[in-house]
Amino acid sequence: MFLKNLETAGFKSFADKIDVQFVPGVTAVVGPNGSGKSNITDAIRWVLGEQSARSLRGSKMEDVIFAGSETRRSRGYAEVSLTLDNRDKTLPLEYDEVQVSRKVYRTGESEFLINKEPCRLKDIVELFMDSGLGRETFSIISQGKVEEILNSKPKDRRVIFEEAAGVLKYKQRKQKAEGK
Ligand code: ATP
Ligand code: MG
Repeated sequence: MFLKNLETAGFKSFADKIDVQFVPGVTAVVGPNGSGKSNITDAIRWVLGEQSARSLRGSKMEDVIFAGSETRRSRGYAEVSLTLDNRDKTLPLEYDEVQVSRKVYRTGESEFLINKEPCRLKDIVELFMDSGLGRETFSIISQGKVEEILNSKPKDRRVIFEEAAGVLKYKQRKQKAEGK
């Protein structure tokens, strides 16, 4: 499975429609500070189902919608579509290409699509579960995360490894069962 392209309109600093093409191998995004590099990874995490505005570096979900600039009016919605090559069937769907889309309006209304068919947020989250690319995996390591890992106390660092190894959920269930 690999990312083929990311289309967005109205997401964060991207007022107009943009289409980022990825090719197999390494893609590097370069640009000055504040030019929107991290907003690209935020868009990927958002379309994969991220629900925490804080983790998208905002305070409320509406903050993902282009807020306007000196020369441009704000937008009424943000839209992101991510297309993946699924020829190896990493995602449990029969299609060779899978597109997931998410749209949010200022009114708070949301839309989710899988291959242009309306679905629930839960369907998108479940589609990527166990694929290595979910919203809570370490396939995306955001700015500052490396320092955070290096500077964390051994006990906190262990939690990161437990999460990556997939044992955290069992540990949490065990603690719950033991009434802790
Ligand atoms: P750095 O090199 O410092 O990490 P970067 O290229 O990663 O920078 P981003 O953090 O992706 O930059 O982009 C930050 C920019 O996005 C800021 O200029 C901010 O004003 C803009 N931005 C974020 N949210 C919105 C929004 N809702 N509407 C308009 N602009 C926004
Ligand atoms: Mg950045």
